[in-house]
Amino acid sequence: MDFQLSETEKAFQQKAEQFVLSAMPPGYTDRCLYWPGAYGAILEFEERDPAIDRFRERMGEEGWLTMAWPKELGGGGHSFIEQAIFAERLSYHRAPGTDISTLIAAPTIMRFGSEEQKKEWIPRIIKGNLRFWLAYSEPNAGSDLAAIQTTAVEDGDDLIVNGQKIWSSGAHIADYAWMVARTDMKVPSHKGTTLFIVDNKTPGITIRPLINIVGFHSFNEVFFDNVRVPKKNIVGEKNLGFLYLMVALDYERLAIAIGGFRRQFDELVKYVKGTTRNGEPLSANPSVRRKLADLAIDIEVAYNFFFKTAWMMDNNQMPNIEASVLKLFATQLSRKLASVGTEILGIYGQLEHDSKYAPMRGQYSVGYLDSISAVIGAGTSEIQRNIIAQRGLGLPRK
Ligand SMILES: Cc1cc2nc3c(=O)[nH]c(=O)nc-3n(C[C@H](O)[C@H](O)[C@H](O)COP(=O)(O)OP(=O)(O)OC[C@H]3O[C@@H](n4cnc5c(N)ncnc54)[C@H](O)[C@@H]3O)c2cc1C
Repeated sequence: MDFQLSETEKAFQQKAEQFVLSAMPPGYTDRCLYWPGAYGAILEFEERDPAIDRFRERMGEEGWLTMAWPKELGGGGHSFIEQAIFAERLSYHRAPGTDISTLIAAPTIMRFGSEEQKKEWIPRIIKGNLRFWLAYSEPNAGSDLAAIQTTAVEDGDDLIVNGQKIWSSGAHIADYAWMVARTDMKVPSHKGTTLFIVDNKTPGITIRPLINIVGFHSFNEVFFDNVRVPKKNIVGEKNLGFLYLMVALDYERLAIAIGGFRRQFDELVKYVKGTTRNGEPLSANPSVRRKLADLAIDIEVAYNFFFKTAWMMDNNQMPNIEASVLKLFATQLSRKLASVGTEILGIYGQLEHDSKYAPMRGQYSVGYLDSISAVIGAGTSEIQRNIIAQRGLGLPRK
């Protein structure tokens, strides 16, 4: 066991950093309001930006999106640790990075898709300009995804889809839905659900905006009215979608933008060091110092979990419980960082991000609200605790 990067990994880290800094749209780090672990203040959701599309394409062209994929599928054959090193640097600079296509769709297709599907989707995803949205939740199915009611009925070479999805992040700027629906209502959901891909341009799809707590258009509600989807878009086998969904959720929970936590914290420490309050340096305040020390420890713990999951994958272990531990710990930290930071900033910390008096670009007032989303999306904290209790500790299902 070695808790340090090797010399080769350090050199790789430098190379990754140089790429991110040279290829990112200028000024993006200081424009971006993204809060680590959260979902609600992603600039790209407001408007699809050609400069960001170009950045993703460059990541695709230069192999950064596909580093740890198998070489025969166009990947770079790098280790998962190297992929994690890149992801850390990317998120440290708040760069728009890897997304659903590379983090969820591609690994699921590589694991469960047919050879034809791999040939059809993987090269397109590698190029870096294909966007997916996750069509899982419904008005009466969130934590309990087995309760979904949207149906997909076979008709010749197609499925006919009817129903509604909700909380669909980024659906309005995406190209395809990564979707689950019931293909057999007569059996329990885990035996009668299918995972498939739907082109957003298909007739019968209506996308309506939902504005989130931060005032951004991140969510949508999406209606499917007799939407025709070719059966060749079924990922893996019909009716086994629930199994694939559980694996896809693990991939999602591993996709923590870890570097964002350290970036936000580094900026907070810099602010504390450079600020005087009531004639005293803020850095001399014992309460502030203790709060920062606590956060520093939590960030270190989150980093260790993050790199442990990469290490496990390099050692052919699927971090299943660890995905839930990482998701739970990092998203609780997202809340804590926002809450403690807002306390430290004092009353000015409550100004909105467009106020010129808001310290640190108003990121903390955004984060304070947005971090609520972190502990709900991709499975709530309660659900993660249930998974850890059942799968990790072997406690019986309630
Ligand atoms: C910012 C954000 C982005 C999202 N993006 C997407 C998206 O792109 N696509 C998508 O499909 N969905 C998305 N969602 C939806 C998300 O997956 C659901 O909100 C989440 O799974 C919880 O479901 P629910 O809202 O229906 O709450 P419920 O399931 O109704 O839960 C309500 C409360 O009950 C608790 N609870 C429920 N079941 C249990 C249990 N068994 N044990 C203990 N406590 C329990 C929950 O923890 C929660 O506190 C997003 C949500 C957020 C907040």
